[in-house]
Amino acid sequence: MNKRTTCPYCGVGCGLIADPTDTQEHIAKLTGDQQHPANRGRLCVKGSSLHETLGMETRLLKPQLYGNEVDWEQALDEVAERLQRCIREHGPDSVAFYVSGQLLTEDYYVANKLIKGFLGTANIDTNSRLCMSTAVAAHKRVLGSDTVPGCYQDLELADLLIITGSNMAWTHPVIYQRIAAAKQARPEMRIVVIDPRRTATADIADLHLDLAPGSDASLFTGLFSHLLASDALDHSFIDKHTEGFEDAQHRSRAAAMDLATTAQRCQLDREKLQTFYDWFTQTEKTVTVFSQGINQSINGVSQASTILHCHLATGRIGKPGACPFSITGQPNAMGGREVGGLANQLAAHMDIENPAHRRIVGNFWGSDRLPVRPGLKAVELFDAVADGKVRFIWIMATNPVVSMPEADKIKKALTNCDCVVVSDCVADTDTLRLADIRLPAAGWGEKDGTVTNSERCISRQRAFLPLAGDAKPDWWIITAVARRLGLGKQFPYQCAADIFREHALLSGQDNAGGRDFDISGLAMLDNDAYDQLAPTQWPYPVAARAGRARMFEDGRFFTRSGRAQFVDTTPCQAYSSDKRWPLVLNTGRIRDQWHTMTRTGLSARLQQHVPEPFVELHPDDMARLGIQPQQLVQVRNELGSCTVKARATTAQQTGTAFMPIHWNDCFTTAARPCVLIESRFDAISGQPAFKQTGVAVSPLPCRWHATLISRHRIDLPTHVYWSSRRNTDWHITTLAGDCDLDIATLKTQWASPGRTWAEMDDGSGDEIRLLAYDHNKPVIWFASQRETAPDIDEPWLVAAMHATTLNALQLAAGRASGQLASGALVCSCHQVRESTIVDAIVSGCRSVESVGEKTRAGTNCGSCIPEITALLTTSSTTTTLSTKTSTTTATATTENVC
Ligand code: SF4
Repeated sequence: MNKRTTCPYCGVGCGLIADPTDTQEHIAKLTGDQQHPANRGRLCVKGSSLHETLGMETRLLKPQLYGNEVDWEQALDEVAERLQRCIREHGPDSVAFYVSGQLLTEDYYVANKLIKGFLGTANIDTNSRLCMSTAVAAHKRVLGSDTVPGCYQDLELADLLIITGSNMAWTHPVIYQRIAAAKQARPEMRIVVIDPRRTATADIADLHLDLAPGSDASLFTGLFSHLLASDALDHSFIDKHTEGFEDAQHRSRAAAMDLATTAQRCQLDREKLQTFYDWFTQTEKTVTVFSQGINQSINGVSQASTILHCHLATGRIGKPGACPFSITGQPNAMGGREVGGLANQLAAHMDIENPAHRRIVGNFWGSDRLPVRPGLKAVELFDAVADGKVRFIWIMATNPVVSMPEADKIKKALTNCDCVVVSDCVADTDTLRLADIRLPAAGWGEKDGTVTNSERCISRQRAFLPLAGDAKPDWWIITAVARRLGLGKQFPYQCAADIFREHALLSGQDNAGGRDFDISGLAMLDNDAYDQLAPTQWPYPVAARAGRARMFEDGRFFTRSGRAQFVDTTPCQAYSSDKRWPLVLNTGRIRDQWHTMTRTGLSARLQQHVPEPFVELHPDDMARLGIQPQQLVQVRNELGSCTVKARATTAQQTGTAFMPIHWNDCFTTAARPCVLIESRFDAISGQPAFKQTGVAVSPLPCRWHATLISRHRIDLPTHVYWSSRRNTDWHITTLAGDCDLDIATLKTQWASPGRTWAEMDDGSGDEIRLLAYDHNKPVIWFASQRETAPDIDEPWLVAAMHATTLNALQLAAGRASGQLASGALVCSCHQVRESTIVDAIVSGCRSVESVGEKTRAGTNCGSCIPEITALLTTSSTTTTLSTKTSTTTATATTENVC
């Protein structure tokens, strides 16, 4: 039966319809839900590839204790016993939970209730700390509550849309496409993109401000000063609805950020800056979307607060097409905020340090053990693990060994921790490898509950597949442990709906409109009504008939006085470069991957857009450093080193570098950028600064480069680099090494009974081709050569390996006779490669639309349109495709995340 559900990736929160066609094999058709308000049927390529990630091949199917499979009884007994023993021997603060924006709200609620309500500590934090805790802190300081004021429609209604610190085209593609459509319908709508890199998002921008890395605080402080100097203020709004404006004026005067100073600090062209200021000053309907580029900074809260100040000073909040808008990275970062998933919050947007809030929550939960002070935030929490202060940690649905700054320190800390429990749906992650106790959690298609997207819209995730193996929902696992701790009465839940009702009821406790988060109107849903719950924006108090799209329409804020606050925004010392590590490394997401690839890494088509880990550099820096495109390089500093391929792009400023956050030890040798990132964080929010890290980049000499295609993962020859991915049933591994390579050794290494071989060697070992056959079917294809990786046509070769009609010599060539390679994959949805698009352009297509008509590229999710645009530009002067140069577009390929 078809089920409506919600995409598990980004904070857009698109609706999907799932049609399970084979529940035993976990096969389902997935389509965009036309009725969901976030996407109206659209999906990006990640969402439309979800069906490729449902299989059970990589799932954790049984609980494991110290490496041995056990049943749930044994596993849960052990978790409860280790937890109790740790508290008994070392006190409540010796235990911690580290959870995730991937959890459903119901899972999150139960985890938070257990630790904050009954274990005597507030040591629970979430990977959302890495993503949006800065926005939370800024909202609370300025607006009095963690409230996103606007809705997605505001982004379409704005006459001026400012996108800062976000490559939405790739990180929130469906919203970006909605904006692009709005711009096409109203070309007079202006879009400003603020980003040191020229990302895909800048393609629809009227103005791209390529400011110096880390200078956002200066830019918005300068904007605020300009609003004051030009008296572009809404005095009535300021007088009636805000406090602290005079102090803000004094601080602004003291900062003396006039146009010239701001332009100089941001290294921006003065005219461009003036244009931005003029547009902001003149445009009533202005929305400022901000994300990780603002949040992931030691000045994050100051930066976000200044953005909010600019909107308050001009009265642009709570109106259609006018608001600041923090867009969240994860599917349920907002739900986590609602139930108090951050160490400094209580449930239902209440504060741990507020005695009245503690009383409300304590009474409601029937507990007098609520901690009176916040728990440890993510960086502090893992520091406490490293110091032996936290001795028991339960990590749920996240991979901190990849995603936390100083990731190798996290690895060491977990290795030495007394007890590490990890709940996850997959069997292998960098973090799971360090777990003492592994608990199999339900996968996306098996989970039932709710998530909240970036516009406060609560949507149901509905199970459409049976639980894989012995997997259980996270809420069930936590509840079962709580019962073993003698808390059966407090944790009586039989289903997710039971938890949702309690969560909704708590939000309305002693809440006569004084707190923003109130969904008590949903507390009476019975199981059927919960099952059928349609997407609903909060707040939704008792007697509400609909959710609310926009907040603060009446100018009343959730502060004691009801007025918004102009707060101190003095930024601390920004990043300054170190001569030893002269390049400023930025990190972020790429179009077709999500987080640490545990799910997107299963999709063959998502693997093909950018198949290997990389660092992007400006061509001038590459020339200066003696680095060729696609050459292996080391990116390093005093904390660690990564081995990745170099890509040249003018989208990077000189002196800067960019690495994606996704690759990890399960997919490649060494490409976790977080091993390079120092644990610096914003003093208020605790959010780490992932965007500016000093590194050096140098070529990595290799004696050979190779491609290995195999039916199964097999032992690799001695190497300095490997990177593996899937293409249909085949594992594709690229390798490089610095020792001698010979066919005899490879054949010994890969020997198998009955296996036959075809081999070609140029005699010097410079070029090797080796094919292995089992029962006349090719099972291994290997090619190595001296200077660069073999130039193969991967789609052709994989198809040829399946077909088995070609002889060894034809297969060994790696491409069809006389054919050029088909180039990089551009359109993942329709699997259209660069050569097809270039052919279309050469044959006369002169627009994205005509390329789409001829090739289908760009006609589904639209995420590849910036790349098609770049090909249209470059191919207008070049009519043949060079297959030997790396794919370099004028558009950066990446963005940020938690
Ligand atoms: Fe999922 Fe893409 Fe929608 Fe984000 S934009 S929720 S990744 S389909």
